Amino acid sequence: MADIIQLLPDHVANQIAAGEVVQRPASVVKELLENAIDAQATTIKLLIKDAGKTLVQVIDDGVGMSVTDARLSFERHATSKIRSAEDLFQLHTKGFRGEALASIAAIAHVELKSKQEADDVGTEIVIEGSEVKSQEVVVTPKGTSIAVKNLFFNIPARRNFLKSNPVELRHVIDEFHRVALAHPNIAFVMYHNGSEVFNLPESNYRQRIVNIFGNKTNEKLVPVTEETEVLKVSGFVGKPEFAKKTRGEQFFFVNNRFIKSAYLNHAINSAFEGLLKDGTHASYFLNLEVDPQSIDINIHPTKTEIKFDDEQTLYAILRASVKHSLGQFSIAPVLDFER
Ligand code: ADP
Ligand code: MG
Repeated sequence: MADIIQLLPDHVANQIAAGEVVQRPASVVKELLENAIDAQATTIKLLIKDAGKTLVQVIDDGVGMSVTDARLSFERHATSKIRSAEDLFQLHTKGFRGEALASIAAIAHVELKSKQEADDVGTEIVIEGSEVKSQEVVVTPKGTSIAVKNLFFNIPARRNFLKSNPVELRHVIDEFHRVALAHPNIAFVMYHNGSEVFNLPESNYRQRIVNIFGNKTNEKLVPVTEETEVLKVSGFVGKPEFAKKTRGEQFFFVNNRFIKSAYLNHAINSAFEGLLKDGTHASYFLNLEVDPQSIDINIHPTKTEIKFDDEQTLYAILRASVKHSLGQFSIAPVLDFER
């Protein structure tokens, strides 16, 4: 009987994996920004062209990569962030799957420049559709720059599936907001087609929210703080009278990672019960800190859904703390700008 099973070549495996990791330019933005954060950057620049369809570039001033690591970073399952399966429950980095760069390089033209502090010169790699075209010595500042050009150049069906530039730009900006909100202590700039879209200096959480959503936001924020054994909550909810018709200002971060949770969203809605006009949605910017052992982030490649050990307790604490803040605010509407 003939054997018919074959191992897929790496570039094919990478392209398949890319289907899960990279849906649109915004997915590339997310992965590159997260890598810059993991590299301890203090200033991160995002440059995009044509809503990211022709260029997504992220320039950071982080730790950079050695010549060998720069090459290895494009291999699948190549990561400096975990060493064993146990590490999955002790995560202190955004990344850990080691597949973003391999996936991106499988479906785009990528140019990477990187230099570590101690080195005089850096390294530059050009990769097109998983194929390394060159690796050369280059003069470049400390840190890493990755330019991702012509996304889906080799998968016309995916390229055609992309939405109009305004829609894709919206997704990119949403992603940028999520990352920038999770890291107010890092400065971010974003340019689209050569024009500055955001310039966010290093600041505190409240100021970061205001810098993104405008000065008017400041007066509507009500601080939320709670600390229990299993959950620490910090951040803000919007006063009920400022509730919006859209859900654009609803953010949960768990251990500094943006997540979506219909269940926790329900906890907030229930805390706002009776305070919102019909058809409006509360704004919230809430950071939840939990023991990394009590969550599983590895349920989807984009990591925006996570599993909590004890969701019901978190729900109850969250609801109570938001209710408490809203109640306090109606008795004593004092806002301190310093928080
Ligand atoms: P992951 O982030 O899950 O480890 P990636 O494919 O995103 O996987 O990146 C692979 C590796 O490349 C990272 O583990 C890291 O060592 C290195 N790397 C990627 N981007 C940067 C960067 N901006 N600065 C320094 N190192 C980076
Ligand atoms: Mg990564």
